[in-house]
Order: sequence, then structure tokens, then C-alpha cells
Amino acid sequence: MVQPAEGRAPTYIDTTRASIARVYDYALGGKDNYEVDRAIIDRIRAVAPEIGRIALDNRAFLIRAARFVATQTPVTQFLDCGSGLPTAENTHQVVQRLRPEARVVYVDNDPTVVAHGRALLEDNDNTRFLDADLRDPGAVLDDPTVQEFLDLDRPVALFQVATLHHVAERTAEIMAGYLDRLPAGSVVVLSHFFDPENDDSALARRIEDLLVHSPMGSGHFRTRPQIEALFSGVELVEPGIVTCHRWWPDGPQLTPEDAVQRCVVGGVGIKP
Ligand code: SAM
Repeated sequence: MVQPAEGRAPTYIDTTRASIARVYDYALGGKDNYEVDRAIIDRIRAVAPEIGRIALDNRAFLIRAARFVATQTPVTQFLDCGSGLPTAENTHQVVQRLRPEARVVYVDNDPTVVAHGRALLEDNDNTRFLDADLRDPGAVLDDPTVQEFLDLDRPVALFQVATLHHVAERTAEIMAGYLDRLPAGSVVVLSHFFDPENDDSALARRIEDLLVHSPMGSGHFRTRPQIEALFSGVELVEPGIVTCHRWWPDGPQLTPEDAVQRCVVGGVGIKP
């Protein structure tokens, strides 16, 4: 059992069942994971040795996109759905370094994230953690934490980074549920496992098969039209939806690209 933060109900964590957040933590090189989580990545590594790149590229995209929103848009309110376990640079640290007044609400429903995340992510007055299911936009947006902390009449940056590929259906509907409620000027930052429908497709579908049939039970690789549908109603910022490591990289790419890197895409859009 993970010890609860002071004043919180104890959280019981089943270490025999894999968790999306802990599998991702392992793929990023973190230490908050168990054998059941590690076995999933290790099995994929047998067919795709560079699998860790998907997680690293995705996380680096999140950080660059967060910096972009904080510096290139007037938005200072962030709703980070599927925060994951605390890692080296969390969204609030990235954006508050640039905009100290920025407010961040994290949403996650993984018991390990709830246990560790609340204590570590809610580390200042401008940050909150909400234990909720991101598949229910109404419940998230109407939760008192969000209602009291964010002003939904002003633009919000909605992060759905590496979350919706863990949702089996209704993904475009879920995004519409958020975007319909957010005002013009709101920003979407989204990444997703990708089936490029070319020579890399077999690799994408092989990894998907291993993930979906693992104790984690999710990891859907979607096609370009399916991912474009998640940005419905927003205008994409240049360069559009691209593989994560190609979304405004920090510098020239000197290392050769691996096929798994072509199987995760990200993009940023602004509601007109
Ligand atoms: N967004 C972070 C990033 O990209 O670095 C973490 C991504 S991690 C792969 C996905 C996170 O989404 C996990 O922490 C998982 O618990 C959370 N998640 C998945 N489905 C969820 C749901 N239905 N409601 C709330 N959180 C969910």
C-alpha cells in the first residue's frame, strides 16, 4: 500500500495489475513501476527495441508545446488531462517558470497517480489535482476544483497528451465535449499513437496488438483522419499534426529516425 498524503483517504494499489501511468513511467526510465508494468514494455522491446523513444518523444513534445503555449499565446489556464506520474518536468513547472501566474489543473484517475501525484504535483497555490475520468468532459469541467480554480469564460489550454489512445471509443465526441465548452482562443495540445498506413503500419499494429492484449489493455494506433477528427473545430498551428519529434524540435536532428518514432504524432490547435 502506498502511504496516503496527510489528511487523504488511503489509496490501495494493486501491484498485480498493470497501470498505464506506471508502464509509461517505466518507458520514460522512471522508478515508480512494478514487474507487471515492466513486463509489458520488455515484451514489446523484443519486436521494437526502440520502443522507449515513443515515450521520450511524446514527453519532449509535451514540454515544448507547453513552452509554446506559455510564450506564444495569452493563455494562462491549463487543464492537463492524464497527467501521468510526476516526472522531471511537469506541466506546471514548465509553464510557471515562464508565466508564474499560470494555473494548472491536472486530471488523472490512476490510483498510483492519485497517491503520488497529488502530493508532488500540487506543490503550489497555482496548481490543483483532480481525481476524475477524462472520458467525461462534463464531469471534469463541472467539478468544483475546475469551476473554482479556472475561469471557463477565458481561454484554457487543454492537454490530451498520450491519453486518448487509451480510450477505446468516442474519442472525437469526448474532445468535442471539452471544446464546445471552452471559449475562443482556447488551445488544444494533443498527441496520439499513429498508424501511418504505409510500410510502418505493420509495426504500429504489432505494438497495438501487444498493448491491447496485455494486462494494461489499451494502446490504440489511429490513422491520420481519425486523429484529425480529434482537432475538429480548432485551427492547427504550423506544422500541423506531425511525428512528435518533428514538432518544433529544439535543434537539428542529427540522430537517425527510428520506425517507432514515426508511430506517435502530436499537434497544437487554437479554437477560432
Ligand atoms: N500526459 C502525460 C504525458 O504525455 O507525459 C502522461 C501520459 S500517460 C501515457 C497517460 C495517462 O492518462 C496516465 O497517467 C493514465 O492514468 C491517464 N488516463 C488514462 N485514461 C484515463 C481516464 N479515463 N481518466 C483519467 N486519466 C486517464
